[in-house]
Amino acid sequence: MIRRLPEEVVRKIAAGEVVVGAFSVVKELIENSLDAGAKRIDVEIRKGGKEYIRVVDDGTGMTEEDVLLAIQPHTTSKISSIEDLYEIRTYGFRGEALSSIVRVSRVVITTKKREEELGTRVTVEGGEVLRVEKVPAKVGTSVVVRDLFFNVPARRKFLKSASIEGRMVTETLQKFILSRPDVHFTFERDGKIVYNAPPSDVATRISMVIPDLNVKDFVEVEGENEELKVFGFVTKVGVWRKTRRDQFVFVNGRYVLSPEVSRAVEKGYGEALPRDLHPAFVVFLEIPPRLVDVNVHPQKLEVKFSEPERVEKLVSSSVKKAISSMWKRDVPLEKKKIYELKRETEILREPMELLKAERRTARTEETPKRSGNWKIVAILRDRYVLAEEEDGILIMDYHAAHERILYEDLMERFEKEGMNSSKLLIPIEMKLDEVMREVAIENEETLKKLGFEFQESPSGLKLTAIPGILPAHSAEEAFREILEDLRLSKIAGYGETIKKVIADIACKSAVRTGDRLDVDSASRLLEEVERRGLLSCPHGRPLVFRMSYEDLDRYFERK
Ligand code: ADP
Ligand code: MG
Repeated sequence: MIRRLPEEVVRKIAAGEVVVGAFSVVKELIENSLDAGAKRIDVEIRKGGKEYIRVVDDGTGMTEEDVLLAIQPHTTSKISSIEDLYEIRTYGFRGEALSSIVRVSRVVITTKKREEELGTRVTVEGGEVLRVEKVPAKVGTSVVVRDLFFNVPARRKFLKSASIEGRMVTETLQKFILSRPDVHFTFERDGKIVYNAPPSDVATRISMVIPDLNVKDFVEVEGENEELKVFGFVTKVGVWRKTRRDQFVFVNGRYVLSPEVSRAVEKGYGEALPRDLHPAFVVFLEIPPRLVDVNVHPQKLEVKFSEPERVEKLVSSSVKKAISSMWKRDVPLEKKKIYELKRETEILREPMELLKAERRTARTEETPKRSGNWKIVAILRDRYVLAEEEDGILIMDYHAAHERILYEDLMERFEKEGMNSSKLLIPIEMKLDEVMREVAIENEETLKKLGFEFQESPSGLKLTAIPGILPAHSAEEAFREILEDLRLSKIAGYGETIKKVIADIACKSAVRTGDRLDVDSASRLLEEVERRGLLSCPHGRPLVFRMSYEDLDRYFERK
């Protein structure tokens, strides 16, 4: 039974726009289908959903009377009093989704209940009911939404590009695919099937949504504390991500953004989690509705727990329990720092006496050429270059300096003609989800300037060329990170993103060369650092530390 909410309930419900973009229309329609008990939901969009959205379900359907009421503001079959607001078990409860959607687009709803002979088709434009017809129809409901915001130009202008809107719809689908493995979802985008997910289990669904990880990369988490429950999958120790993108939290079946829960999961790993890295996970929390406020945000994305500490503790301890049995045996050996395995300090037998002799005899062939008045004395820990100057010593961080020089070179080349690219004889096959593939396609030009070329392939992309400077074995990882950076570039800004991406490429290439650090290369590098005036560089990380003999004398109280 659909009823109009009493005034006071209406006021209780925080006002807020339901429709902010194509993805929110899709989200609301899917939620309605799920609330109607659908076991199969087919979603189709065109042009990112800006032109066309269709959601078809096999749920209960509506009578003519139901539909006409459902498209009125604040009509819902799901709650009728303030008390109900605190015991919400359905996705919808505001009764404003359908009415908001029909107000800002052209909608056709076709629906039929099992016991009806014929179905009902309602055509609405900008909130105005144009036609109500009796038509043959399947049990369930189909909603077609065309021309989103056609009558609200100010809002239409704020819709993002078709590819970004479409990507957000895909992300919305991913959340339902994860949280409702019991429901068959299909998703078609501009004529292409993106997902076809028959009923299965959470683990199977995870490998659909995060295609480069599989079930073996995860451990199952389970925990309970009185009426709180947690269940889900978290990645094993050593399977880390650079960002929190693959972290999904659901509270009572609803996807939420919860930095608290994310932190609690990460805390469960303790020391095993390296700084700046993150696990991937899908975590479901069951909490009595009265202990959760899902209404703090009009899009119902954020939650407030009335006892956050209890929730966080349960999550941390459950994760800890799940991974503690695994972690010792699962730390991959190759993740151990290579540097630690290499030789210790290397002292060169070329003290100042030799240098002086050299200067006297002007024999310089066997010592590396240099412009400055310094002489490399030792390479410490494969990392620091110790040099003697006329009036003091200097220590250069070899890798930092190398990265910096590479970075400057690459940046210059990027800005001029684009970076050198080397074609791959055997293309690298990469599994990518729909979202990341989109990001790659959107940024094809930029990626090309960076030296990456690719083609679409059934499972994601095929890398056909990579930056000449990048070792092939780290190309895939670098490419993934770049896509992630580009995806977030809306936040950081394009210029900043490019700087970071190039810094990353420089870092990856520097490590390779850095493995063979000898006097020759150290000398050439120090020379370059000097030539570019980076000896006392004011910005970025310091590259060189200098101390005069005067300071040393003072330190040892010789003066
Ligand atoms: P809410 O979901 O918050 O109740 P909506 O505006 O989204 O509000 O929907 C209004 C009402 O229309 C719902 O309460 C439900 O009774 C009915 N309805 C909407 N979509 C469907 C559907 N796909 N199948 C059956 N009933 C639906
Ligand atoms: Mg709804």
